[in-house]
Amino acid sequence: MMTCAEATNRFWEYLDESLAGPHREVLEAHLGLCRQCCGELELARVLRGHLASQPIGESLPEDVRGRIDLFLQELSHE
Ligand SMILES: [Zn+2]
Repeated sequence: MMTCAEATNRFWEYLDESLAGPHREVLEAHLGLCRQCCGELELARVLRGHLASQPIGESLPEDVRGRIDLFLQELSHE
């Protein structure tokens, strides 16, 4: 079973659709069981869409920045 930290580490690849088949299946299995990662994947998806629509270095809204900080802190505590 994949841990939450492993799952979140793969979110970007997953959203880029660059995650190889077997890894993707393991991640999807985890997402099917883990509410927390489902929520974080949604956040990552929103973030990714936001970043893709803005030039790098463009300032993020304060609330989005706060959620990113929180998200990264949670990852590092896992
Ligand atoms: Zn999880």
